[in-house]
Amino acid sequence: MRESFEIRDTDAGGRIGELTVPRAGTTVETPALLPVINPNLDTISPRRLADEFGAEILITNSYIIHGDDDLRERALEEGLHDLLDFPGAIMTDSGSFQLSEYGSIDVTTEEILAFQREIGSDIATPVDIPTPPDVSHGRAESDLETTQDRLEIAEDADTGEMLVSAPVQGSTHPDLRERAGGHAAGTDLDVFPVGAVVPLMNDYRYDDMIDVVAAAKRGLGADAPVHLFGAGHPMMFALAVAAGCDLFDSAAYALYARDDRYLTVRGTRHLADLDYLPCSCAVCTDHSPAELRALPDAERESELAAHNLHVTFAEIRRIKQAIRAGNLLELVEQRARSHPAMLDGYRTLLDHAAQLERSDPVSKGSFFYTSHESARRPEVVRHHQRLERLAVPNSLLLTVDRSAPDAGYDDVWRVQPPFGPFPRALSKTYPLTAETPSRTDRAALEAAADGVARLVETNPGTDVTLAHRDWPADVLERLPDGVALVDLADET
Ligand SMILES: [Zn+2]
Repeated sequence: MRESFEIRDTDAGGRIGELTVPRAGTTVETPALLPVINPNLDTISPRRLADEFGAEILITNSYIIHGDDDLRERALEEGLHDLLDFPGAIMTDSGSFQLSEYGSIDVTTEEILAFQREIGSDIATPVDIPTPPDVSHGRAESDLETTQDRLEIAEDADTGEMLVSAPVQGSTHPDLRERAGGHAAGTDLDVFPVGAVVPLMNDYRYDDMIDVVAAAKRGLGADAPVHLFGAGHPMMFALAVAAGCDLFDSAAYALYARDDRYLTVRGTRHLADLDYLPCSCAVCTDHSPAELRALPDAERESELAAHNLHVTFAEIRRIKQAIRAGNLLELVEQRARSHPAMLDGYRTLLDHAAQLERSDPVSKGSFFYTSHESARRPEVVRHHQRLERLAVPNSLLLTVDRSAPDAGYDDVWRVQPPFGPFPRALSKTYPLTAETPSRTDRAALEAAADGVARLVETNPGTDVTLAHRDWPADVLERLPDGVALVDLADET
């Protein structure tokens, strides 16, 4: 376990954690949102972020401060906390973003780390190389070597109590992301941003984003606090948290407000297109859309930014409650319905169900089957794994009928889509107590058939009969030869 990060609760790959930030003398509960503060533009003041929105941590850019004579002098003299007037923890970025935008910057990792320490940053960032998506393996690998050199420089630097982040790069190459995660976790650095995913999010490539995060997580391991760098839209927080991300930074609340864009958990709306405000924050209860549109530019921007932040922080709280209640994936399923690209992201997340299964609690309150994607949840994967370890008799009737007689078999097990077969003794245990729709879908039947297949293949000596009700032929084709079939629909 890393000293600065403690995990309190988990659900799928998501977790509630506590990040200790010694230099700020505080702990930050994760998942956490770090509002981005541009030291030159105060859309919402840092004091207001703390007092009105409950922000425990924010992020600003030390490279911008370093490059501005006035800001630099004031930051060195007053310290970052007084300069910004923020009582919580402050993370600083290093100029890597500017490096990726403009091709070069005029500070080294040593210089910018020393500067971040001098101005009182609580979590500093070295200058890594943010390799964009889709570049060749060779280029991504060579960039990654530079990033890894920078992390080693950061490890050797005198950073005192300041935490230091170790960005994980590797473009869209899973092997490199995994290797980068393994290297970063092997350093004594503290926080692990998955970098250069903004272009993926801007292009709605949530499927590729999830593959990148899953690969980085395989390298980082379960106990590393993970920051999804540049992710600020509340629509995708639940998905990213379920993949194992703990920290987000939002410039979106301010950038979108500047363009009259209104954030919701189901996507972005333009203020011009809204006849009603689907939100109960102070901004939305005090104004109609027409009143907001009539405000002077600066005031409208500030009000929209405040709404955008309210909706963003509310989603973080909703996600934490979902983790606590054990229904995070049901929230992800709801969010996945807001955009086809989000659905791709969720389906990709389920490609990694076996990886999520390792951190998923063995028991939760309830399993709600709310979409055919539910058939691929980690709980189903775990039940299928468990089927390999269960003792079976010589002859076994598997039946979808709750009240089947044991007519001559050594034992009778229920079959419940999407899980498959289970012995009577497990019927009251999670997840077999699931709430499922009575109109079973094909994905659930296929998963149940796969469960039967797993049981039969593990126990070739057992005579298995499956009593199903009207299962389609191509679902039954998933079963191994030798399973005797009874269609209960024929008998009634
Ligand atoms: Zn609102």
